[in-house]
Amino acid sequence: MIEVEVKAHVTNFEDVKEKLTEIGAEKIGTEHQMDVYFNAPHRDFAQTDEALRIREIPENGGKRIILTYKGAKLDGVSKTRKEIEVDVSDSEKMASILGNIGFRAAANVEKDRVIYLFNDSLISLDQVKKVGSFVEIEKEAKEDEDFKDAVDEIFETYKKLGIEEGFERRSYLELMGVK
Ligand code: ATP
Ligand code: CA
Ligand code: CA
Repeated sequence: MIEVEVKAHVTNFEDVKEKLTEIGAEKIGTEHQMDVYFNAPHRDFAQTDEALRIREIPENGGKRIILTYKGAKLDGVSKTRKEIEVDVSDSEKMASILGNIGFRAAANVEKDRVIYLFNDSLISLDQVKKVGSFVEIEKEAKEDEDFKDAVDEIFETYKKLGIEEGFERRSYLELMGVK
């Protein structure tokens, strides 16, 4: 699937939360996300703009673990890219498999994410450790579909939230100074 996404830096979440209530966005979850990004032995993901990640999200006494591949960004204004995600049962073993075939852990990102649903967009309020406060709006598109309308809709939603600047195409890793 194609992840159509736009990220924006915000100074605080209070105004955004007020607007979310006004437009009738529904709060659907809160997640503490702990991410480890890997680099590949056969090419430099910082150069190719790809990403490989193991994400852990503690939930009801256990944790959800997701392995994610992201392709390079597909346009010049958003963070739209191919995204493939799969649940895995054991993060240490997954990391060990990657380590044994030459992949190296490159960086960690940790954040608290509050997720809202508005129409068919997911709106995340991200408090990222050592980086700051960000809003992300995301829609899904099919691989063979034109995603430009989805990008326009995302910017429309940002307008409804009173956010018209602060758009950020750099990843949390780059904002941490990793790239
Ligand atoms: P998601 O939207 O999937 O929840 P996120 O919001 O936590 O992810 P993003 O900043 O949107 O994080 O995306 C992760 C980014 O990390 C990708 O844009 C990817 O290109 C970048 N990245 C991955 N590996 C590296 C690396 N080795 N060097 C620099 N950047 C990397
Ligand atoms: Ca993102
Ligand atoms: Ca996303």
